[in-house]
Amino acid sequence: MNKKTSDEILSILNIEIPNPKPELNFNNNFQLLVAVMLSAQTKDKYVNEVTDILFKKYPDPYSLSQANLDELISIIKNLGLANNKAKNLISTSKIIHEKYVDVIPSSLDLLTSLPGVGRKTANVILALGFNIPALPVDTHLHKMAIRLGYVKKDSTVLEAEEALKKYIDKSCWIKAHHLFLLYGRYVCKKINPECDNCKLKKYCKYIKKHV
Ligand code: SF4
Repeated sequence: MNKKTSDEILSILNIEIPNPKPELNFNNNFQLLVAVMLSAQTKDKYVNEVTDILFKKYPDPYSLSQANLDELISIIKNLGLANNKAKNLISTSKIIHEKYVDVIPSSLDLLTSLPGVGRKTANVILALGFNIPALPVDTHLHKMAIRLGYVKKDSTVLEAEEALKKYIDKSCWIKAHHLFLLYGRYVCKKINPECDNCKLKKYCKYIKKHV
């Protein structure tokens, strides 16, 4: 990878996805945090169906911190990992209410110290909640970083994040996150990527090995 190639990839993605937006529904940073915590290993559209109900019942950190665990599990059960997600939501809401007076913190260290909040989730909060330059790397960005040659096949998520940040201008990190995520979700899919229609073919290491 080099900066010129990376810039070309970003230009193509900007044309392919002219108005990239997050697909999770939220109205404030508390809702964003809850939605991203719930989104692990499931689809955003399922999270939106659940948060529609959840945010009405638990509109703020205090109400969610007081939730009955079994009741919360039953509301989010279709999203998978429901036991852990419910416990983490209650614990994190308690800390947000008691320690941060209902304000979601805006630092990576403070966010990742919350139960159930990993580096990717924290970076999403920084980027979408605070507009702080961050480049959250989820499974889609990791996959595309490998296929397009930002990193080697056996790279870690953190290595992918570092490589993307190295070649993409800081002012474009947040938009690049959306572009790679949406392209990885709908075109460069994990199984059966739509390579025939892909405008990134000439840069792709994956297709060169599979045709
Ligand atoms: S050619 Fe296929 S694998 Fe490569 S980036 Fe495009 S969709 Fe993904």
